[in-house]
Amino acid sequence: MPPAAPIVVDLLSDTLTTPSDAMREAMAHAPVGDDVFGEDPTVRELEQRVAALLGHEDGLFTPSGSMANQLGIWLHVQPGQELVADSLAHVLRAELGAAATFSGVTSRTWISERGLLRAQDPLSLMITDGGAYQVNTALVVLENTHNFGGGTVQPIEEIRAVREGTLEQGVALHLDGARLWNAHVATGVPFTAYGTEFDTVSVCLSKGLGAPVGSVLVGSADRMARARIQRKRLGGGMRQVGILAAAGLFALDHNIDRLADDHARARRMADAAHAAAPASIDPATVQTNIVILDVAAAGWSAGDFTAAAGAHGIRTYAVSRRLVRMVWHLDVSDAATDTAIEVVRALLREGSPR
Ligand SMILES: *Cc1c(COP(=O)(O)O)cnc(C)c1O
Repeated sequence: MPPAAPIVVDLLSDTLTTPSDAMREAMAHAPVGDDVFGEDPTVRELEQRVAALLGHEDGLFTPSGSMANQLGIWLHVQPGQELVADSLAHVLRAELGAAATFSGVTSRTWISERGLLRAQDPLSLMITDGGAYQVNTALVVLENTHNFGGGTVQPIEEIRAVREGTLEQGVALHLDGARLWNAHVATGVPFTAYGTEFDTVSVCLSKGLGAPVGSVLVGSADRMARARIQRKRLGGGMRQVGILAAAGLFALDHNIDRLADDHARARRMADAAHAAAPASIDPATVQTNIVILDVAAAGWSAGDFTAAAGAHGIRTYAVSRRLVRMVWHLDVSDAATDTAIEVVRALLREGSPR
């Protein structure tokens, strides 16, 4: 193992962003009240603003994206039913069995390439006439952009085809839109066009948007009223939390358009990696702020590569034995990107010392 070096460029995750001085200023002056009594004006403003942005009736502020997703799931299922999602979905891979724990559902998955949605995959998995011997599919969950798939943007036509097929069969549709901001910036597809294809949508304020905490779930007023009760049951009823909602409002005002810079920097890394080791990545697949390198193509294990990059001060994340993830966000500059590119390029060219 190379000796630990100070982190110079941190590409571990876009959750690492810290609130800017201007964001902290907005938080400090936010009007607040007791949100469990529905009396925090800043929280209500955020909930209503995100709901309107996505073409839904109402919203619900939650402490995490996991809670927003799990409330979304809970709204649509009964214990003993199932949800279907792709095998790399955050709701199944990174929420620690919450759908089984809190909603009593089993899950089945389809295999995707880079998380990319093909409508037939979920539609052909669904079972809605299972009778007394097959589990009934109550919900399909999609993810846009797709995190472990590498920031993959889902084609709007495929989303629409899933919507049509699920509506026909009475199956609900939830979007894990933690990075829907990035999809919008990459494609120009309006937020409402994405949002209205789903019964519920969750979005994260604490990823590339740069807020320290918070997600919002949107849906019908009825569903949000039910989710509000379940949120309290789970311990997610917070009091003068407008301080945090203010950070979210600031992020919506200031930090959406700038995601294009993150996308450009990620693409620069992808181009450089491709030039050094062509099989490590197809730069055309890098549409947003995430780059996933197949370092095995250059003779590395993901663990060794991550350690070697770390010894040069570049923090990355081994997502599997061959794949290393790098994520751009508002605290990674052009200059930092150049530094990271130099290290990654050299490691890919040299190959593993083992
Ligand atoms: C980060 C993330 C979430 C939510 O994560 P929390 O850490 O619970 O806020 C949900 N879905 C995706 C795709 C994510 O990347």
